[in-house]
Amino acid sequence: MPELPEVETTRRGIRAALVGCRVQAFDLREPRLRWRVEPTLAAAVAGQRVVDVRRRAKYLLIDLERGTLIAHLGMSGSLRVMPAGSPRLTHDHYDLVLDSGQCLRFNDPRRFGSLHWCTGDPHEHALLASLGPEPLDDAFDAGYLAARARGRKAAVKIFLMDQRIVVGVGNIYASEALFRAGVRPRRAAGRITREQWRRIVAAIRAVLSDAIRQGGTTLRDYVSADGTPGYFRQELFVYERTGDPCRRCATPIRHLVQGQRSTYFCPSCQQ
Ligand SMILES: [Zn+2]
Repeated sequence: MPELPEVETTRRGIRAALVGCRVQAFDLREPRLRWRVEPTLAAAVAGQRVVDVRRRAKYLLIDLERGTLIAHLGMSGSLRVMPAGSPRLTHDHYDLVLDSGQCLRFNDPRRFGSLHWCTGDPHEHALLASLGPEPLDDAFDAGYLAARARGRKAAVKIFLMDQRIVVGVGNIYASEALFRAGVRPRRAAGRITREQWRRIVAAIRAVLSDAIRQGGTTLRDYVSADGTPGYFRQELFVYERTGDPCRRCATPIRHLVQGQRSTYFCPSCQQ
């Protein structure tokens, strides 16, 4: 599943090919994505110049002159730039055709991705309005987390994966960040100390920044053909390492299930 680093890698990969170009056509082959793509979208975007490509959480915001396309990659989606008119594959659902002779093409076998056209402030759009801060922004710090966690009995890992608290901390990154911070994933969010929150914030920033940096090495793949997600290249300390020796202390890594998701931790390094 594309996580925040893959979406950021996609943004960096497609931005230069889009900004400054004019939309020649929007070619929709399959409107039945997670939500049906509005039939009026093609007419709305045609002829407009691309002003910027931004990211909010796992949404890509393609700013045109009079509105914003809000694209989500879902579980299995990818957006790539290629020559317009390239042969279509089975799961290619839409093309944003540009006057540069290239197009932005969306492929998504499972069709959990989405595309919306928004003429107002995209941050006020129903999909984005209740999202928490970006994990790499200054507003995300120990004081913020301590205030939001006050009195909360939810496990810290579940708390960190709540998009209303902070966006983009997926399952892999939550497990890895809690290992780096030395905090047990089942500890109640309300009982985490200020010092532990500081370590958690630093660890989340570090794992996401590393993944973005490594995703950047596959940038060319994203623009042409096969996009290898950045995290596969990352040195993982606990994720999917059940029974393997901890890379720090050699204690076997343990597995547990929280909120129907797998959690991995070192019982010795994490307290
Ligand atoms: Zn350990």
